[in-house]
Amino acid sequence: ENIINQIAAGEVIERPASVVKELVENALDAGARRVELATAGGGLSLIRVVDDGKGIPPQELPLAVSRHCTSKLSDNIHDIRSLGFRGEALPSIGSVARLSMRSRPHDADSAAEIIVDGGKLSPVRPVASNLGTVVEVRDLFFSTPARLKFMKTERAEASAITDVVKRISLAFPSVRFTLSGTDRTMLELPAVSEDGDGLLRRIGQVLGKEFSDNALPIDAEREGVRLTGYTSIPAYSRGNALNQFVYVNGRPVRDKLIAGAIRAAYMDALPRDRHAVTALFIQLDPELVDVNVHPAKADVRFRDPGLVRGLLVGAIRQALGTSGT
Ligand code: ADP
Ligand code: MG
Repeated sequence: ENIINQIAAGEVIERPASVVKELVENALDAGARRVELATAGGGLSLIRVVDDGKGIPPQELPLAVSRHCTSKLSDNIHDIRSLGFRGEALPSIGSVARLSMRSRPHDADSAAEIIVDGGKLSPVRPVASNLGTVVEVRDLFFSTPARLKFMKTERAEASAITDVVKRISLAFPSVRFTLSGTDRTMLELPAVSEDGDGLLRRIGQVLGKEFSDNALPIDAEREGVRLTGYTSIPAYSRGNALNQFVYVNGRPVRDKLIAGAIRAAYMDALPRDRHAVTALFIQLDPELVDVNVHPAKADVRFRDPGLVRGLLVGAIRQALGTSGT
């Protein structure tokens, strides 16, 4: 059983940033309005996520850390509105690290804790804790030394963590995020409103006010596929594509089709070695997109790729004022 979890961990949990992604997604799925992260040693010695979400009842703690126990699966596998759905993350993390989870649901007056150490579950015990959930992951990959050898420097792992939190935070402007390392605060993103103004302020918090001041709004729709967000004026471009943030149904994705469409839209406006800065949100019927391609869930398959590409290219060119070319 632990071997199966370790194999799954090999796919889902590549590095500390993958743990952070899974834990933050769980907090958001639980309806958190505040997500506080603390890390040490680039996330390899410690990752702690504190949320104020709906919590987990004590009797469900052992289930939450067991394989394929998800509380999120609906009858229709394509109708995936929450971020998690495989019930794989916590058991995977618990098989390659020391995981502790303490939680107090909103209707409970006491909290409980479970510990998973290299795959072994402790009994659930009562503890004192605030409303919501605290997940701590210590000594990541201590039980899989081969994997540990592949880690980059603490600094590189810490920066990958920051990138993950930034990425997710753009899709949840009304949630407050904080991220701290051993001796400094990396991110402090106060909650803003859900609307376009709020989104632009969150974009300013994450990508810098210089981008939000130089961003063109996008709002277009084609055959039920909606595209909203912001894209940079050509003068505000970058030497790499790291600052292209794209979301499909609220889920951060990195996708070749989308990146290619953005490149094509800017073709006449940017030299080849420059990249646009974007925060784009694609919203469509969950039936028309497959997010189930890989456990890391960053790839997407559209039922109609041409439609999505055409929408992106058309809307960005229109915003740039080059729609005729
Ligand atoms: P998944 O997110 O795919 O369901 P996970 O292994 O990430 O699988 O989590 C398992 C279950 O544990 C979730 O379905 C949820 O019920 C519960 N859970 C995990 N994290 C939290 C949290 N921060 N708050 C409330 N419930 C949580
Ligand atoms: Mg999850």
